[in-house]
Amino acid sequence: MKELSRIVKNLPQSGIRKLQEAAREIPDAIRLETGEPDFKTPDYICEAAARAMDEGFTKYTSVPGIQSLRNALAEDFSERLGIDVNTGQIVVTAGATMALDIVLGCLGNPGDEVLIPDPGWPVYTMQVMSNSLKPVPYIMPADKGFEPGRENIEPLITEKTKAIVVNTPSNPTGAVFHEETIRMILDLARKYDLYVISDEVYDYLIYEGKHISLKSLDQDGRVILISGVSKKYAMTGWRIGYAIASEEIISLMKQLMVPMIGNATAVAQKAAEAAITGPQDFVEISRRDYKKRRDAAAAVFGEENVDFYFPHGAFYMMADISCCRMDSEKFALKLLADEHVAVAPGGTFGESSRQMVRISCGTEMTALCEGIRRMCRYIKKYSG
Ligand code: PLP
Repeated sequence: MKELSRIVKNLPQSGIRKLQEAAREIPDAIRLETGEPDFKTPDYICEAAARAMDEGFTKYTSVPGIQSLRNALAEDFSERLGIDVNTGQIVVTAGATMALDIVLGCLGNPGDEVLIPDPGWPVYTMQVMSNSLKPVPYIMPADKGFEPGRENIEPLITEKTKAIVVNTPSNPTGAVFHEETIRMILDLARKYDLYVISDEVYDYLIYEGKHISLKSLDQDGRVILISGVSKKYAMTGWRIGYAIASEEIISLMKQLMVPMIGNATAVAQKAAEAAITGPQDFVEISRRDYKKRRDAAAAVFGEENVDFYFPHGAFYMMADISCCRMDSEKFALKLLADEHVAVAPGGTFGESSRQMVRISCGTEMTALCEGIRRMCRYIKKYSG
C-alpha cells in the first residue's frame, strides 16, 4: 500500500500520554502526570446542558458559535481586559486546542517559522508541524523564573518568522509573566511584524502577582487570544474553547472551521454560556484549593530537601532531577514502576527541561503529598 502521511508519522510523541498509558496498567498509581482538574463540573452548568437537550437544542449551530455565548464572551472579555471586544472578533471551537490549531492554519504558509516556548505545552510543536510550519523553540530560563528575556527571543527571529506563541500562566512551569516581559514580547512583535498567539487558558489561576493579558495591550490587532472553559470550570470533556482576534483573522478562522468541524457541540456551547454567565464562586473556591495544594506540595519538597521551582500560577510544578543523571522519561517510567507515582517527563516540554519532571496539583491533597514524598525518596535514592 502507498505510504501514509509522513507529516503525521514524524510528529513527536507526547511523553505525558506515554506515562498516562503506562499508569493505567498500575491501578493503585498516584497520578500526578495529567493536567486536569479533579473537580466535577458545577451542577448549574450540567443542568443548563440538560435543559438545552430537553428543549431540542441538538442541531448544527452557526459556524463561529451561538450568538448568546459570543455575546457573553464579548461582555466578559471587554470587562476583564478593559478593551472593546465585539462578537465579530470571537470564534468558538472544540477546546482551546482546536482554536490554537486553526489559528496556526490561518496565519502560516508552509515553511513559515513559529516561535514556541521551551519548556512549553508539547501540543504547540505538534500543531505547528502538522500545519507544515517549523517550530523554533525559545528558552524560558529556569534561573529567571522561566520568563524569557529579549536575548532568548530576538536572535531566533528570521525573515520566515510568522508568529510567536506565548503562554502565561505557563504549562508546565507555572510562571506568570511580569508586565515588562509582556511589553518586551509585544515590542518585538511590532518590530519584526509577528503575530502573537497568546494562550491564556490559566488566566484565572494566579496565586501571586497578576495576570496581564497580551490582548489588553494589543495596539494593532496582531494578538490572538486563546482561552476556554476546560480548566476554569472543570469542563475538560465538554470541549469548548475560543479565540479572540481581529475580524480579518476570525473571518479566516470561520472559513477553516467549516471543513474541520462545522461548529462546536451545541449543548456544550449552552453549558459554556451558563458557566460564563452564572455564579463564579466555583472559580475562586477551586483557585484557593489549588493554592493550598501548591503550598502543601512546596512544603513537602522543602521538608525532603529536594529542589523544585515555585510556581505562581496554573496548577503545575517542575521538580529538578538533575542529580539523578537520568533521562526524564526513563526517570518517570522507573518512578512509576518502583514507587507507583506517575509524573510528566520534562523532556516532553522541550530540551531545556530534560532534567526536570512536571507534577500536576490537579490531584487531591493527600495523594499529591504522598506522591511527592515518594518521588523525593526516589530522587535521593538515585542521586549522585
Ligand atoms: N493550552 C494549555 C497551555 C494547556 O495546558 C491546555 C490543556 O492542558 C490547553 C491549552 C487545552 O485546553 P482545551 O481543553 O480547552 O483544549
